[in-house]
Amino acid sequence: MLPSKKGFSFSYQFVNFVVFGDKGIKNSSNIPNPKTKIFAHLKYFSYLCRVLDFHNKMKLVFASNNKHKLEEVRKILPANICVISLAELGFHAEIDETGETLEENSAIKAQTIWDWIKAHQLTHEVDGVFADDTGLEIRALGGAPGVRTARWAGEDCNDAANRQKALQELQGITNREARFRTVITLVRGERQEAKSERIEQVEGIVNGQISEAEEGNGGFGYDPVFIPEGYDKTFAELPTEVKNSISHRARAMEAMRELLSNNN
Ligand code: IMP
Repeated sequence: MLPSKKGFSFSYQFVNFVVFGDKGIKNSSNIPNPKTKIFAHLKYFSYLCRVLDFHNKMKLVFASNNKHKLEEVRKILPANICVISLAELGFHAEIDETGETLEENSAIKAQTIWDWIKAHQLTHEVDGVFADDTGLEIRALGGAPGVRTARWAGEDCNDAANRQKALQELQGITNREARFRTVITLVRGERQEAKSERIEQVEGIVNGQISEAEEGNGGFGYDPVFIPEGYDKTFAELPTEVKNSISHRARAMEAMRELLSNNN
């Protein structure tokens, strides 16, 4: 759970007790050794700085528990934004993605979490929520699989089955143009006033081609069959840093970063 003001006062008492014993910080003049006294004050000061720093940061919940994505997002967003995962928030339920578009699905996820935050009276603790939804859009297939990218080969399919489906669908087709598109929905409330919430969307796109066969072992999902524009290797063959610098998600995150820095 988040360190609330209540948590802070408990911790204050705890630190006070650990550092000064049952006499408390008000009676620190009782500590006979000046070195011990300075050390105790420094220890308490550094603790206080960490707590205050957390309280000064913008806190955004990312509607995901995917470690890979969390890492990527934390790298892209500036240090004054604290990204909180669903597990850290204490949200453990599944969200049904019933939308017909990437826009609808990312909005459903962000809004579900924001409603949960409101229901748990945590709007004074976090500044907002963002959720992403990604689709692979293949031109020769009229933009399919799009919103059905994750379940293209069937309800309980895995990444390998989805990749095979992509290769099969494009057998004998020369136009292999495709793109990944990520839509991010950002819901923000004024810290104390949940009513005045703002809902905004940004997107990130990387154009490319579907390869003739699977290549490479890196990445995840459709990476072994997607060759980004300007390269002759699949995402799964390229170094992670290269993928993360040009990917649909990185571009959408960058757009959200700009949104946050332009209108706070
Ligand atoms: P999600 O919206 O991030 O859950 O992604 C939806 C689908 O797109 C899943 O099948 C993912 O495997 C796939 N996907 C998302 N991002 C990438 C990527 O960077 N590379 C390959 N596949 C991806």
